[in-house]
Amino acid sequence: MKLLIISAAWLPEFWHGGKVLSPPMCLPVLAALTPRGPEIHLVDENVEPVNLQEEADLVAISAMTASAPRAYEIADSFRARGVPVVMGGMHPSALPEEAAQHADAVVIGEAENQWAQVLADFAAGHPQRFYHAEERPTLTDVPLPRRDLLHQDRYLAPNLVQTARGCPHACSFCSVSPVFGRKYRFRPVPEVIEEIRALGSRSVGFPDDNIVGRPARARELFEALIPLRVQWAGQGDLSMAKDEELLNLMARSGCLAMFVGIESLCAESLATAHKQPNIGLDLEQAIATIHRHGIDLVGSFVFGLEGDKPDLFRKTVAFAERVKLAAAQFSVLTPFPGTPIYEQFKAEGRITSFDWSRYTMGTVVYQPHNMTGAELAAGRKYAYGHFYSLPSMARRLLVRRGTKTSWALRTAANWSYRRRLRGGKIADSLPCEDMPAPAAGGPRMHQRLCREAAKPGGTPPGGASAADLP
Ligand code: SF4
Repeated sequence: MKLLIISAAWLPEFWHGGKVLSPPMCLPVLAALTPRGPEIHLVDENVEPVNLQEEADLVAISAMTASAPRAYEIADSFRARGVPVVMGGMHPSALPEEAAQHADAVVIGEAENQWAQVLADFAAGHPQRFYHAEERPTLTDVPLPRRDLLHQDRYLAPNLVQTARGCPHACSFCSVSPVFGRKYRFRPVPEVIEEIRALGSRSVGFPDDNIVGRPARARELFEALIPLRVQWAGQGDLSMAKDEELLNLMARSGCLAMFVGIESLCAESLATAHKQPNIGLDLEQAIATIHRHGIDLVGSFVFGLEGDKPDLFRKTVAFAERVKLAAAQFSVLTPFPGTPIYEQFKAEGRITSFDWSRYTMGTVVYQPHNMTGAELAAGRKYAYGHFYSLPSMARRLLVRRGTKTSWALRTAANWSYRRRLRGGKIADSLPCEDMPAPAAGGPRMHQRLCREAAKPGGTPPGGASAADLP
C-alpha cells in the first residue's frame, strides 16, 4: 500500500520558491502514527509541487482555512482518478460537512486516537464519513515525527519540537482552543528532551501555542533544557513578564526569542476579544522586563478588532518602534471558521467574503466596526511600510540585547520582512481594488491611498503624517 500525505499550499503570495520557515509538522507526525507497512510519501506543497498523477492507494490531505480551496482541488483531482482521499486539519475540523464534499472521509480534531482506525477502514474498503474521537489524545509516548521523510534542507528552521497542546484562554479570533481545547496537555519533559537529543541540533523551535502558559511546567522544561546548551525560540503570552524567575530560567535555557501576541493597544479591543493575558497588563513594562533578560520579542498585532479606530495604526507603529520589538507581524482580523468571532460576524451578516483563499490574515474579509475595510487594509500596509523602513530598522536593530546569534536573527528577520514588503509579497497580498471604496475618490483613489500608506513617510488612514510620530 502506498500512502501519500499532502499539506496543501497556503500564502503562495508570501513564498515563491527557496526556503520556507518551517515544515508543517502534521506530515511527519501522521507518518509516525502510521502502523508499519505502507510506503509513505510526504509532500509539503509550500516547498515542492504536488504531482496529481502520482500513484497512491490513499491520499491524506491536511488543510488550513487559506489552503482549503487548493486542498479541495487536489482532493477532487485524485478522486477523479479513483484514488480515495481523507482530509483533516484545522479547516476540515471546523467545517467537516464542507470538506466531506471533496473527500471520502474527514478526520475531525487530532489524529492520534483515530488514524490507525482510518487506515484499517480504508484497507477494508469501508471508511466512515467522519472520524471524531470522543477523547483528546494524551501526549505520552507519542512516536517521534518521521522528519527523515521531509526535505529538511528546504526549511530555515526545520527542528520543531512540540511539547504541549491546548490553551486555557479563549481569544475570540483564535482557533487553538476550539481545536485543541482549553486544557493544557503536556508531553512528559523527559520525552521532549529525548527528542531534542535525537535531533542532534543546537537550534530548536517550540511550536506550542503558549509554552509559558503553565509556569510550573515551563520551569520544569527550561531546567531540563539547560544541560543541552541549545538555542531556542517559541511562542507565549506576555504574562511571563510577571515571573522574573521564569524569565531568568528561559534565558539560561537558551531562549533567544519569543513570538508574542500583543494584539492591540486598545483596551476595548482586548476586552471584546477576550485576550485575557493582556487585559490590564502594562504592555510596555512587560516588554521591557522580558528584554532585560536578553530575550527578543516578535510582536504580533491584529488590526480591526471591535474597538480599533483608524488612529490605532499610527499609535501601534510608534509603540512597536519605541519598545524596540525585534520584529512585528501586522495582521488583519480574520474570522476563521470555528472561532467565536466567525460565529458572531456570520450572525451579524458582516462577513464580506467566504472565499477561503483570502483568509490569509492579510486580506479584509469582513466589515470592521469603526472603519472601512479599505482603511483597515491601508492601515496594515502603512504599518509594514513604516516598521520595516531603514530608519526604523536601524533604531531597532542597533540595541544591545541577547547574543550575537540574536542580533543575526533579528537582522535576518527584518530584511526578510522588508524584502517581501518591497517585493509586494506582503503589501500586494491585499486586494485593495476589492475593498469597499472609501466614501470619496472611488477605487482609484483608494488604490493610491494604499500605495501611499505603505511608503515610509506616508499617511496612515485617519491619522497624522509620519512626521508627527512621537
Ligand atoms: S492566548 Fe494565544 S493561543 Fe491562547 S487562545 Fe489566545 S491567541 Fe490563542
